[in-house]
Amino acid sequence: MMLSATARAHTAAPDELAGRVILVTGAGDGIGKAAAVACARHGATVILLGRTQAKLEAVYDGIVASGGPEPAISVLDLARAQGPDYFQLASQVESTWGRLDGLLHNAAMLGQRAPIEHYDIGIWHQVMHLNLNVPFILTQVLLPQLRKSPDGSVVFTSSGVGRQGRAYWGAYAVSKFGVEGLSQVLADELQSGHVRVNCVNPGGTRTRMRAAAYPGEDPASRPAPESLMAPYLWLLGPASRGVSGHSVDCQ
Ligand code: NDP
Repeated sequence: MMLSATARAHTAAPDELAGRVILVTGAGDGIGKAAAVACARHGATVILLGRTQAKLEAVYDGIVASGGPEPAISVLDLARAQGPDYFQLASQVESTWGRLDGLLHNAAMLGQRAPIEHYDIGIWHQVMHLNLNVPFILTQVLLPQLRKSPDGSVVFTSSGVGRQGRAYWGAYAVSKFGVEGLSQVLADELQSGHVRVNCVNPGGTRTRMRAAAYPGEDPASRPAPESLMAPYLWLLGPASRGVSGHSVDCQ
């Protein structure tokens, strides 16, 4: 709790993330877009990974237009990515920057809102794959590059339903429990190194995913992603150096 308060109260200096190379998945929309723009605004070179090229290009243009470091675009549908796609990404990071300083696992899908009894098994697999298996695979293939950073930070995206199960949230909730577990296991394994590993829970945020989960809700009743960036900058930048194995709440 204390840690979340510290993260939320953090005011990043204009150049706090300068010189850092940070990969953000799902960077074309919602929270991932806001995180990519915020990291660039504070000096980071951002690798914008997502499945819709036009959205990534719009984020790229916005960052360049506002004077941020030129980002990179990686168009990849993580639901379909295979071994060679991951290895190509890792070798691109290695050949271009020689290290990775931050990895924000943000892309995810909601899947079905249904009781476990009737949950579609195919959708269950899709959700578990994108929300849990993909962050595991990406972390594994990029860990050698993260280790080359003097201050590498891995951030997994959790959810309230990943801490306390709730009816009808199905695979989404279970995948987020898995993400919290993956983060804890990895943090424990990397204890003696300098790569830190944490979770962030944005809380209900005004995005397409939130609207799909709560179609009857007035979107204006939820904060915009841009207003929740302090913990993201805190976790991905130098301010949280030495902090690992924790889960931070943005709200
Ligand atoms: P959105 O659905 O608004 O955005 C998700 C992003 O992920 C989009 O850019 C989307 O790309 C991308 N994405 C989806 N599927 C794939 C894929 N197969 N390959 C590559 N990229 C993909 O979600 P949010 O911004 O709301 O959520 C971001 C994170 O925050 C998620 O992990 C979510 O679980 C978590 N979260 C969100 C909350 C909320 O209230 N919004 C609350 C708690 C947690 P495209 O736009 O091209 O489809």
